[in-house]
Amino acid sequence: MAPLDSAVVSTLDVASELRAWPGESVHVSYDRAADAFVIVAIASTVLGPAMGGTRMKVYASFADALADAMRLAAAMTRKQAMANLPYGGGKAVLAVPAIPERGGDEWRGLFERYGDMVAALGGTYVTAADIYTSIAEMDVIAERTPHVLGRSAAKGGSGDPGRGTARGVFHGIRAACARAFGDPDLAERTVAVQGAGSVGWHLLELLRDAGAATVVADIDPDRARSACEATGARVVGADEIVSTPCDVFAPCATGGVLSAETIPHLRCRVVAGAANNQLATDDDDERLADRGILYAPDYVVNAGGVIHLAGHETLGWDDATVTARLAAIEHTLAEVFDLAEHEGITTAEAADHVADARIEAAAAAR
Ligand code: NAD
Repeated sequence: MAPLDSAVVSTLDVASELRAWPGESVHVSYDRAADAFVIVAIASTVLGPAMGGTRMKVYASFADALADAMRLAAAMTRKQAMANLPYGGGKAVLAVPAIPERGGDEWRGLFERYGDMVAALGGTYVTAADIYTSIAEMDVIAERTPHVLGRSAAKGGSGDPGRGTARGVFHGIRAACARAFGDPDLAERTVAVQGAGSVGWHLLELLRDAGAATVVADIDPDRARSACEATGARVVGADEIVSTPCDVFAPCATGGVLSAETIPHLRCRVVAGAANNQLATDDDDERLADRGILYAPDYVVNAGGVIHLAGHETLGWDDATVTARLAAIEHTLAEVFDLAEHEGITTAEAADHVADARIEAAAAAR
């Protein structure tokens, strides 16, 4: 196809994607200095300002970046609702030609200008970290706008939410084990953790403290080895973790890990982990159910990050309240499992029902 034709097709795709999206608004800016497209998708402000992270990534096309922002923003709406937070769902994407070196002038300029864009949205969108953005980026954005969570403690923030996310996942695993094995206690359980990053590492510590046996894999072998030394987890190869015999498989690396290719190889009774968008397609929850594997929906299990950020930085909660709200993930998941059993639907469908009902109730009460 000639370049001009592909540009026309791509423009039509973008227009129809925007038309079909049920969210509230999409804000796009082209950052000429960085040759980057900046996209902020606001899916819903029914429960409060749209809150969600900023993902920096090299996308194959503008249409891919737009689709990612809109899909992730919609998922954030349900995540906030399930966490009972006064926030709606939003997400931002920085579609860059290459990931800039952290700390360099190019990097700083991009995040300063992006901070101005968040400021211009006047608090409708509140940002936080995501893939390729972290505390350092949030500190730069915070120089331009107060509508940012996850700054360093030195800049008045609560830092990396990975510890809170891990604690929420830990409670999610307990709830799923209570349902699958009749007991939330993890002392007799084996948990396979995929990815020993910020969340996976803290999760391994919590599991060790609860007496569980743990297995870990990371594409970075040094990271896996360090996690083994620090937590006593057994290391397996990154290509082996999905098929490792265990009670619980905890995806804590990337999305799309549960697919038609991987699900037949799982040797677990429960899937409960931190990664966003674990199901590769809408059919994969059925595939898991057909294999008798209990799936704990990702956005219910991994809401600890937003609970940590909002609780500490905007809602004025003390540590005990944040801890109690993280533990409440256990009850929320039990509600999801009950509904799935009662209605004969998958746990992913049940989570969507509970979240949508909460949002509709809030909209009706407006
Ligand atoms: P991270 O980048 O700190 O860690 C991810 C780890 O996974 C890295 O060590 C990486 O080397 C490893 N990895 C990548 N691909 C892998 C593979 N195929 N097999 C094995 N290991 C692999 O990320 P994180 O903050 O720990 O987050 C983990 C996941 O949880 C991500 O999907 C993230 O979107 C999601 N999540 C994180 C938070 C949070 O608070 N950090 C909140 C909600 C959801």
